[in-house]
Amino acid sequence: MSRRPSDGSVIVIGAGIIGIACAHYLARAGRQVTVLDQGTIAGACSHGNCGHIIPSHVLPLNTPAALKTGILSLFNPAAPFRVKPQLRPSFNYWMMQFARRCTRGHMLQSAAHLKSILDSSFKEFEKLFGEGALDCDWRKSGLLYAFKSKRSFDEFAKTDTMLTRHFGVTAARIEGDALAVFDPALKPDLAGGFFYEQDALTRPDQLASAWVRQIREDGVEFVEHCEVQTLEKESGKIKNVTTSKGVYSADGIVLAAGAFSGAFAKELECSIPILPGKGYSLTVPRPEQCPRTSVIMPERNVAITPFSNGLRFGSMMEFVGFDDSIPKARMRQLKESGMAFLCAPPADGDKEEWFGWRPMTWDSLPIIGRAPKLKNVLIATGHGMLGLMLAPATGRLIAEMLEDRPRHIPDAPFSPARFNNKLI
Ligand SMILES: Cc1cc2nc3c(=O)[nH]c(=O)nc-3n(C[C@H](O)[C@H](O)[C@H](O)COP(=O)(O)OP(=O)(O)OC[C@H]3O[C@@H](n4cnc5c(N)ncnc54)[C@H](O)[C@@H]3O)c2cc1C
Repeated sequence: MSRRPSDGSVIVIGAGIIGIACAHYLARAGRQVTVLDQGTIAGACSHGNCGHIIPSHVLPLNTPAALKTGILSLFNPAAPFRVKPQLRPSFNYWMMQFARRCTRGHMLQSAAHLKSILDSSFKEFEKLFGEGALDCDWRKSGLLYAFKSKRSFDEFAKTDTMLTRHFGVTAARIEGDALAVFDPALKPDLAGGFFYEQDALTRPDQLASAWVRQIREDGVEFVEHCEVQTLEKESGKIKNVTTSKGVYSADGIVLAAGAFSGAFAKELECSIPILPGKGYSLTVPRPEQCPRTSVIMPERNVAITPFSNGLRFGSMMEFVGFDDSIPKARMRQLKESGMAFLCAPPADGDKEEWFGWRPMTWDSLPIIGRAPKLKNVLIATGHGMLGLMLAPATGRLIAEMLEDRPRHIPDAPFSPARFNNKLI
């Protein structure tokens, strides 16, 4: 099959939440958009994630503590944050770049950039949901950090103070006994928690389906099971996109291939340093007593999301390559870690076991911007742990870039040019 370009047409490679958001904003800008995916729509990392839309989450993965955790994990295969040593030079280069940025200075700098795009994205989500058509369990029910030990609770208080002082992110501190009153679904023996009232949740697979339904009505075309194989260049542009379903062409190309985006680095003559950061989720029927908010339990590195028709446990960050196994031990660990905080077990019924490869950059910032050496290519990837949250602001930025309009937030921190075109 061969498609001719028409004025303003755009091909988006990847129908994850980032590709969907790009398609939405491009279609609203009057572009004719075709989204190609090698699998199914939102069938990869955007399917079973935790669904947290939490602008309070400004801290990057690169923190001084992450370095210590990463090193210790080399000796503990059950650690939630795990690095499996590899011989590939690009893997080790990535790890070195990541480790270099595990300083307080870098952490605060990245957090400032994340804060700007998180706030923008949250406003865009509110506009989207304000329009009323997306049916996807969206709830502004807040986010609770819960702690078992007084020591961890007091330790987190320092992070909370830092978040307030540097970024204006505030939480309500809830002491032990009051926590059980705040949410009777939580065990009564907890030391306390911090509640970020401004945060929200959604069911990610339902959001993707509802959003796709909406933008199909705006004329966006989706082609599933269509693997992009090669990108053919002419006069500093991508002219043809060869796929398993034929050749496509368009005026503009947006690369939104998540953890797979790095495979296009050579053809785009631009560094896209992404590693897959594997995480898992387990979704079970709602227990009789279900938490009313999303909960993160930093001591166990596990998160809980209460959907209207289920309860999801999510966690782990494994740098183990594109490994697609779901070890039983990881599922057990997820459930046990979560249940250590909950009064009631899940109800009987079907469960869903899932993994996803997060597209991780070494500086914890997404890559959003023009491919430096090709005139008609934009890159939208590398959203790591925040892809769902950052999708709308990313889509809006991509449309602004393609249209050469002023950006609604500073975009330089996210530019692909920050990697100095060093191909890894
Ligand atoms: C356990 C877990 C919990 C998480 N929780 C949250 C959360 O609460 N909030 C949040 O904001 N984020 C969360 N995330 C992160 C979030 O899921 C990701 O950042 C986001 O889904 C990335 O979206 P994407 O569109 O970039 O990638 P993907 O969803 O992976 O989409 C990329 C698409 O590109 C396609 N593709 C790749 N190569 C090709 C090719 N050659 N040709 C055609 N198509 C191609 C793939 O098939 C895929 O569909 C979580 C992740 C995990 C693993």
